[in-house]
Amino acid sequence: MFDVLILNGNLVDGTGSKSVKKDVGILKDKIEAIGNLKKSSAKVIIDATGKTISPGFIDTHAHSDASLLLDPIHENGIRQGITTEILGQDGLSYAPLSKENYLINKNYLAGILGNPPDDLDMSSVEKFRSHYDKKCSINTVYPVPHGAIRLEILGFEDKPLVGEDMQKAKKLLYKSLEEGAVGLATGMSYYPNAWSDTTELIELCEVVSDASKVYVTHLRDRNTERGYKGGGILEALEIGRKSGVKVHFSHHRTNASNAGNIPEIIGDIDKAKDQGVDVTLELYPYPTGSTYPLSFLPSFAHEGGPEQVLNRLNNPVEFERIVNTMREELSPYRINAFDDAIFSYSPNNKNLEGMSLSDIAEQNNQSTAITLCELLRDTELELGYWQSPPKNVSVWNQVNEDAVSLLKRDDYMVGSDSIPMGEFCHPRAYGCFPRFLGRLRRKHWSDGLEQMIQRMTQNAAERFGLTDRGVIKENYYADIVIFDSEIINDTATYDDPIQFPVGIDHVLVNGEFVVRDNNVTGAIPGRAIP
Ligand SMILES: [Zn+2]
Repeated sequence: MFDVLILNGNLVDGTGSKSVKKDVGILKDKIEAIGNLKKSSAKVIIDATGKTISPGFIDTHAHSDASLLLDPIHENGIRQGITTEILGQDGLSYAPLSKENYLINKNYLAGILGNPPDDLDMSSVEKFRSHYDKKCSINTVYPVPHGAIRLEILGFEDKPLVGEDMQKAKKLLYKSLEEGAVGLATGMSYYPNAWSDTTELIELCEVVSDASKVYVTHLRDRNTERGYKGGGILEALEIGRKSGVKVHFSHHRTNASNAGNIPEIIGDIDKAKDQGVDVTLELYPYPTGSTYPLSFLPSFAHEGGPEQVLNRLNNPVEFERIVNTMREELSPYRINAFDDAIFSYSPNNKNLEGMSLSDIAEQNNQSTAITLCELLRDTELELGYWQSPPKNVSVWNQVNEDAVSLLKRDDYMVGSDSIPMGEFCHPRAYGCFPRFLGRLRRKHWSDGLEQMIQRMTQNAAERFGLTDRGVIKENYYADIVIFDSEIINDTATYDDPIQFPVGIDHVLVNGEFVVRDNNVTGAIPGRAIP
């Protein structure tokens, strides 16, 4: 007798093998049997005739660290068929941090992550994991954020991490990995991460490499003189080469400025792989990104943390200095993002959500730089944005096609980069996985269902050490999504993002339904894994 029996479906097991008609029997939190189970009995029987049975999707890059604490049902994720999310991304999260540093970082990150409760113990990775374990709908995975390590050891300061401080940092990193962190994550567009240099990262990554874990990197485009060959792809590869660490590139894809030019973004990576550097990558299927506009401010403005940032914005002399130097430090990609910014999240002034920075500047008859600094000051840094998509639709289409071409590589996986905050959040928070499986697969990879699912499941599980997940196999955990491969699609758009996908009927996490017959059940079976 099974707890759940899924009959008559097309089983896509996550390994890339062709779909087969097989039944799946679940007992407690595990897959108990696969085969012809029509004569078996079960408490719940799902007839999946005509539907695809797939392992639950693993989102390798999600900024749900706070939103899961505030809304553990996490409808935007589970409705996409996501059963596991990897948090701590871009090196921006809450542990391991002392009480005082947690509150500092919480305020500093409020524009990207939101506003979690003050009274949480984030003093270790173990404590961090305990806030999610069996307390939200999905499984959570955590790499140690580079920003937290730096903050805890050096404070929110532009200082080198060397000598005794480096020894302390390595010890803290080692302890965090022991407590279940799957690697080290950094974002080199962000502070305090970008105050590091390549030598620091190599030294930290030696600890990660010794533990056979992963270095997850959003590439450097700040303080580039501190990065090997100016940062970017070459710095990340050098870190892999020198430390031996496995390197994972966050959201590595083309955009409007290099649409169609895949060799430009992948050539050096393939060369390094040929020389033995162990590289994987991830992406999401949208032409532009989203983050917090605090990250536009120049390096010096961040020193001392959020309180000091606000002090500077309230001081006319410092304000002017920030305005005058802000754009100088931005990479071309970030200048475009600055010019095309639409505010997505602004809990302290909801009227800003959906407004464009340039329109507000024009209304106020002042520059975008002054306008942005005033808005950051007035919202107390709690402000998010996305970059508007390209006006040229054929460019957008080319970026879509590129995304599928990249996902065809067997070293790619899918990371939504979801920021599920605000009424005008980036649509990737609601549509990433079904967008790939629906409109993009049908247009650009019509016979690629099994391979695409492999990227979304097994590839990610293997990379991040999630044993017993990512494949539908006996004795593996029953993280499962059942959907109609003909119908599945995203409906979230830039102008109307809070829209759930279609064609996804059932989602199980650890054998429990979190979505059943297209309804959210309210169950919270997610675990902190591995
Ligand atoms: Zn991110």
